[in-house]
Amino acid sequence: KGKRAFIAGVADDNGYGWAIAKSLAAAGAEILVGTWVPALNIFETSLRRGKFDESRVLPDGSLMEITKVYPLDAVFDKLDDVPEDIKSNKRYAGSKNWTVKEVAESVRQDFGSIDILVHSLANGPEVSKPLLETSRNGYLAALSASRGSSLSLTYIASERIIPGYGGGMSSAKAALESDTRVLAFEAGRKNKIRVNTISAGPLRSRAAKAIGFIDTMIEYSIANAPLQKELSADEVGNTAAFLASPLASAITGAVLYVDNGLNAMGVGV
Ligand code: NAD
Repeated sequence: KGKRAFIAGVADDNGYGWAIAKSLAAAGAEILVGTWVPALNIFETSLRRGKFDESRVLPDGSLMEITKVYPLDAVFDKLDDVPEDIKSNKRYAGSKNWTVKEVAESVRQDFGSIDILVHSLANGPEVSKPLLETSRNGYLAALSASRGSSLSLTYIASERIIPGYGGGMSSAKAALESDTRVLAFEAGRKNKIRVNTISAGPLRSRAAKAIGFIDTMIEYSIANAPLQKELSADEVGNTAAFLASPLASAITGAVLYVDNGLNAMGVGV
């Protein structure tokens, strides 16, 4: 029987989440996605109107099917945690059951269980501010959106200085990588669940464009990485499919670089 995957953080066809969904679908998985509430409407409309059809094509020529799109806001666990201004916000008021616990319960009711959980989302409200100037709220928001799952996406700014990746996002990724190890132990012992994170190279996603320096990072990587090519989202998607498969049955607690090898360089060339 095919596996069922839930990918949190898909709202268009440009990011890593979409590419991961495609690779998992190509490998035979059933796809459920969690889409940020304010982005839900446009994503569902675009899907329905066929705007993503070209990007839905799988290697065998068929189109990726998304069985269900769940509204999700990953920074709230339950309705009680949601502040009034968000509850009454027009874009949120139109959907329901989008806190983490409610989505988990909806998925359980709809499908019983899932086999693969992917966290492919980030939100650093102050990402364009240096850490030195980041407010407590901005910092905590970045941390809060970054909590891990069985597979997540991280960035090398967690361990090396990447000027411009601000707002506490570097700290959020450091916490995510540490949590990946500890959760691998706890979930491995308790439920035999594997927990890993992919440290991805730069991709021109919507989130990355908002940071403001993505083109520079892509050029830097092409100039300096061992493999001189632009990273495609599919390369990360395929790694995710591998990590989620039995081929990776002994891999857990790992930070796996998918970055054309840039992490291995000591100096630029
Ligand atoms: P993306 O814009 O495709 O994905 C980010 C998603 O997060 C968006 O769909 C957005 O709607 C969603 N989101 C934001 N806040 C949310 C919330 N509170 N609840 C639910 N969803 C929320 O961008 P991406 O670059 O593909 O990002 C995916 C992951 O990859 C992130 O963890 C990011 O940090 C990581 N990453 C990206 C790069 C890069 O260069 N693009 C490099 C390394 C790691």
